[in-house]
Parts: sequence; C-alpha cells; structure tokens
Amino acid sequence: MTTRPKEVGADRPVISLRDLCKEYGVSDLAVHALRGVNLEVERGDYLAVLGASGSGKTTFMNIIGCLDVPTSGRYLLDGIDVSFLDESQLALVRRRKIGFVFQSFNLIPRMTALANVELPLAYAGVRNKQRRQRALAALALVGLADRSNHMPNQVSGGEQQRLAIARALVTSPTLVLADEPTGNLDTAASADLLAVLDRLSAAGRTIVMITHEHDIAAHAKRQIHMVDGRITEDNRIVGLADPPPLLASSMVAS
Ligand code: ADP
Ligand code: MG
Repeated sequence: MTTRPKEVGADRPVISLRDLCKEYGVSDLAVHALRGVNLEVERGDYLAVLGASGSGKTTFMNIIGCLDVPTSGRYLLDGIDVSFLDESQLALVRRRKIGFVFQSFNLIPRMTALANVELPLAYAGVRNKQRRQRALAALALVGLADRSNHMPNQVSGGEQQRLAIARALVTSPTLVLADEPTGNLDTAASADLLAVLDRLSAAGRTIVMITHEHDIAAHAKRQIHMVDGRITEDNRIVGLADPPPLLASSMVAS
C-alpha cells in the first residue's frame, strides 16, 4: 500500500496500473486482451502508446478512460481506485477527470463550434457567462477564436479535430486521452494538431495518445509499446525540441 499523503497530491501519479488484466468472454473461449499491465504516468507527462492492431491498445484506452473496467488488477486514476466502479460512477469520474479526443471528432453537427465546446461545461453545471468565457479561451488556445460561430461542417477536418481538443480541455481535465487523433487528418492538419498537443504538454497537461505511427509518437515525452496485451518497451524520449509557438497554417488562413 502507498504511503503518499492523501490530499491534494500534486506528486501522486495521474495513472497507476497494477497487474491489469482484461479478458473478453469466459473459460476456454476467453480472449486475453491485457495480460498484466503495470504502469505509472506522472502529472504533466505525455505518453504515446504504440502497438500493432490487436495488441490491446483500444482495450487499454477504454479502461484508462473509464469506459470499461478490468477483469482483474488495479487502476488508480488521480488516486481514486476506479477498478470496480459501476456504470454511473464511472460516468461521473469520466466527466470530472478525462477529456477525450477521438479519431472521428464526435462533434454535434447542429451546434456551433462555441456551443460544442461549451457542452461539457453545461453538463458540469457551469453558468452561462463563465461557460462562454472558458469555451472562448479554449477555442483561442487551439487557434480557432475566429471560428466560434461556425458549424462543424463549415470548418476543415483539421479544425474540427482542434475543436474536439478545445472541447476536451475546457473542463481542465486531469487527463487528456487521444485515440488516433490524427487518423483522419492530412499531413498539414496533423502537424497543426500535434503542435496543439505539444503546447498543451508544455503547459503541463497530462496526455495519453494512442497511435500506430512512429512519427506521431515522436512528439510524446515517453513511448510505450504493446505486444499481445503486454507492455514490452517503455522509453523516455530525450532531447525533445521546444514546441512550435503557434499554428502557422491556421494563422495564415484566418
Ligand atoms: P488494438 O486496439 O491494439 O487493435 P484491441 O484492444 O482492440 O487491440 O484488441 C485486443 C484483443 O482483444 C484482440 O485480440 C481483439 O480481437 C480482442 N477484443 C477486443 N475487443 C473485444 C470484444 N469486445 N470481444 C472480444 N474480443 C475483443
Ligand atoms: Mg484499436
């Protein structure tokens, strides 16, 4: 058991996994998707999770994102044991602690950019004026201040994904979780998106990004490799360049 101080805990890991296992199905037919994963992710770290298709990345992400629970083992998220919570408890933890960025953006089509970004704050009960201020600040952070009244289909794919990042950030989550965030983007839009993540990381955000592309993973501070439900490599990347100061292409375009 841990002897860390119980409150505040700026020094406690954001993610702590102990011998985490996930099986789908039972007995002889069970698929062992995770086979004893141990991992600590410190506050402010930027982790890329690499691995071939079928290695367990999505299962891993679903569990650390509190979308699913492990079959055995322990998961502490920001010091809270979430291994055995029920669906409504998991939903609460998700809303409070995690900002999701999915490959497919998941924006609401009939709502403006601003309203999409405000939505998590509305769920959290934040009042109108403060909601607006925080959403506008998040939009500015991803270089989309001038797109606040556009509908999602009136902006480019890259801008939609940055909108999704603004929405993920606006609640100041403990953890930003990105699943193949550049999967549907072209090279220029990917570069802009990675620049946003680099800046978030430089600002102290904790980020976990799932990807199967090595040049995308190269932006992280640390890379883990998954093979057949296990972590086989865990490398800290040294000598990272400073993140680019601003989004060059979007600034020119606006
Ligand atoms: P990845 O995201 O790296 O491709 P997954 O976590 O999706 O890996 O899958 C890991 C293993 O678990 C694979 O063998 C996959 O077929 C299996 N699997 C994933 N989800 C399910 C499920 N809902 N039911 C049964 N098997 C599953
Ligand atoms: Mg997957």
